[in-house]
Amino acid sequence: KKNADMNQPTSLEMPAEFYQIESFPEYLKLQQQLTQIKNLGIPNPYFKVQESININFTQIQGRTLINYSSYNYLGLSGEAAISAAAKSAIDDYGTSVCASRLASGERLLHQALEQELADFIGVEDCIVYVSGHATNVTTIGHLFNYQDLIVYDALSHNSILQGCILSGAKAVAFPHNDWQMLDKILQEQRQHYRRVLIVIEGIYSMDGDIPDLPRFIELKQRHKTLLMVDEAHSIGVLGESGQGIGEFFHVERNQVDLWMGTLSKAFASCGGYIAGSKALVNYLKYTAPGFVYSVGLSPANTAAALASLRLLKSEPGRVKTLQLRSHQFLKLAQAQGWNTSTSQNSPIIPIVVGDSLTCIQLSHALFAAGINVQPMIYPAVANDAARLRFFISCLHTEAQIHQTIAALNKCPISN
Ligand code: PMP
Repeated sequence: KKNADMNQPTSLEMPAEFYQIESFPEYLKLQQQLTQIKNLGIPNPYFKVQESININFTQIQGRTLINYSSYNYLGLSGEAAISAAAKSAIDDYGTSVCASRLASGERLLHQALEQELADFIGVEDCIVYVSGHATNVTTIGHLFNYQDLIVYDALSHNSILQGCILSGAKAVAFPHNDWQMLDKILQEQRQHYRRVLIVIEGIYSMDGDIPDLPRFIELKQRHKTLLMVDEAHSIGVLGESGQGIGEFFHVERNQVDLWMGTLSKAFASCGGYIAGSKALVNYLKYTAPGFVYSVGLSPANTAAALASLRLLKSEPGRVKTLQLRSHQFLKLAQAQGWNTSTSQNSPIIPIVVGDSLTCIQLSHALFAAGINVQPMIYPAVANDAARLRFFISCLHTEAQIHQTIAALNKCPISN
């Protein structure tokens, strides 16, 4: 009897949503949202195929449009010298290093990129990872644990939040850019934890605004915490020579413990970095899971980032033009009465229009008028704060900016 029972497959009563992806409530909710967009009678604004290099122009469905949907801030992706460097690295080393750098994946190119990035940022050393997102997840996730506290800006990027979750530390958001509230949190909570990390960004990607870095440095010093600045959108962008928010505020670079950045925006590549002290980088290179147990950055990506960094240094005019065009766009949009949120000194300029559907319709109307700009809708932002996000590049011309604001003014949904 016992043997016979053991051979019988046990049939458990389980709802389909426990074991069938198409029955997951999250999946069904997504389908509902996609249907809502479809019912508007306009094409899906996501996964739009771009048929050319994506700078101040892009080609979609055979049409050339003025483009504001790329982080190619310095116009370096598509620049002949950068492409040539990537191709030459493929000729020298192949398309992949096919191993962790700790094993047999190390190349001189990696070391050159890390040293030149560290010098540019103004710190001792640097480590590069295969993605910007992975850089935040693995670094934060690895350096902190349940005995620690991480206090992060409420508008922090998803990769920072994922890093906090992975770490197991107590994670607390402080209101956006509100260093006074952060001070209060630290006064109340610092003594209950071992390590405390403050995380801020150089430029926030939803609103295009920047934190008051010297205030955060003062807090970090007074409360004896670590400070991490995510410069995904500010490296190559802020400061007279593009060295980032540290240069913008003229602060000593070693007053920030972890300078994080991505290689996928101003540096026209793919990957991320942490720059800081020799001790920090040495520790991460031997222990950070996303580095140790992952392949080294590809030769082409390493060479593209290195060539971009060198070009940025030899052509600082690109940074100046980017800053000028960003200022021109912001001022013109504001003069026409558009709500640009708190954007300042930044190539990210939101035009806040209200609810998500209005925003999608506006993006579609601009698309018809020859302008490509992404709608940013709920849940990425609050449902009444949906916006078009304009990313400026140094290649945008004044004429394109005027044409864009004029087209916006003509859209059926007026400001
Ligand atoms: N941090 C911030 C603030 C970002 O905006 C992004 C990407 N947009 C990342 C990290 C991740 O970088 P990547 O896309 O290069 O993985």
